[in-house]
Amino acid sequence: MSFDTLGLSTDVLRAISESGYTTPTPIQEKAIPYVLMGRDVLGVAQTGTGKTAGFTLPMIDILSSGRGRARMPRSLILEPTRELATQVAESFNKYGKYSGLSMALLIGGESMRDQQLILQRGVDVLIATPGRLLDLFERGQILLADTKLLVIDEADRMLDMGFIPDIERIVAMLPTIRQTLFFSATMAPEIRKLADKFLLNPKEISV
Ligand code: AMP
Repeated sequence: MSFDTLGLSTDVLRAISESGYTTPTPIQEKAIPYVLMGRDVLGVAQTGTGKTAGFTLPMIDILSSGRGRARMPRSLILEPTRELATQVAESFNKYGKYSGLSMALLIGGESMRDQQLILQRGVDVLIATPGRLLDLFERGQILLADTKLLVIDEADRMLDMGFIPDIERIVAMLPTIRQTLFFSATMAPEIRKLADKFLLNPKEISV
C-alpha cells in the first residue's frame, strides 16, 4: 500500500514524501478516503498510530480545494492539552507546507493579544484547546459561522479532564451542516453517547 492510491493531492503527497513516510499506517489507510469523501468519521485509535496525519492530510486537501474569499476559519481542531495542540499545529505546518493555508494555534499560557492579531488577519484552520477558544469567542474575537469541518481529538482525555461541557458549547456555535471527525483511544459508553450526538452516519474505524 502506498499513499498514492488514497486520493490525496500532489502537493500533500510531496510533503508526505519529504517527511520520509513511504507507507500509510492502518488508520491513515482506512480514514483518509472517507474524510476526502466528506463523511463523518469515528476513529478508535491511540496516539502513536499516525492518526494526526490521518485527519490533517485530507483536511488540507479539502480546505485547499474550497478556498473562500471571506477569511473566516473553515475548520477547527480541538485538543485536550496545549502540548497536543502544539504537536498537531507542527504536523499541520509540515504537511501543509505547499498548501498556502494559514493556521492559528489557540492555547492557554500564550499571549491572547498575539492570537487576536493572527485571527484578525484571517485563518483557514484553528487548532485549539477548549478553554482558550471559548475565551476568545466570548471576547468577540472568533466567528465560527463558516467552520464546517470539525475535529474532536482525544475525546476520552477530554472526558477525563472535564471538557465535555465546553465541547458541547463549542459545537453548538458551529453550523449544523458540517463534517465531523471524532477520535478516541477508547469507546466507553459515555464516549459513544457523545459521538452519537456530534456525528451523522459516521464511518467507524478502529485500529
Ligand atoms: P501520531 O499518532 O499522529 O501522533 O503519530 C505518531 C508518529 O508517527 C509521528 O511522529 C509521525 O510523524 C509518525 N508518522 C505518522 N504517519 C507516518 C507514516 N505513514 N509513516 C511513518 N511515520 C509516520
